[in-house]
Amino acid sequence: MATQAGVRCADCKIGYHAPFDRFERMAVVEQGPTFLMRCSICGSLWHETLHDARLLSASEAASLYPAAVVS
Ligand SMILES: [Zn+2]
Repeated sequence: MATQAGVRCADCKIGYHAPFDRFERMAVVEQGPTFLMRCSICGSLWHETLHDARLLSASEAASLYPAAVVS
């Protein structure tokens, strides 16, 4: 499986944008809400809010979404 080691697919290099069906929802924080999304192509982790989205490191994801299993 691809990891979030910095090798992003062409779409993730551009940003969080369509095609959104490449993302898998890993976890949700009800307050917000915010969503932990993972690209199924390159494994990049994204922190999606109602307003925008940004890349997350694995350690950020683990602290923001302690219930999520990020491997
Ligand atoms: Zn990607």
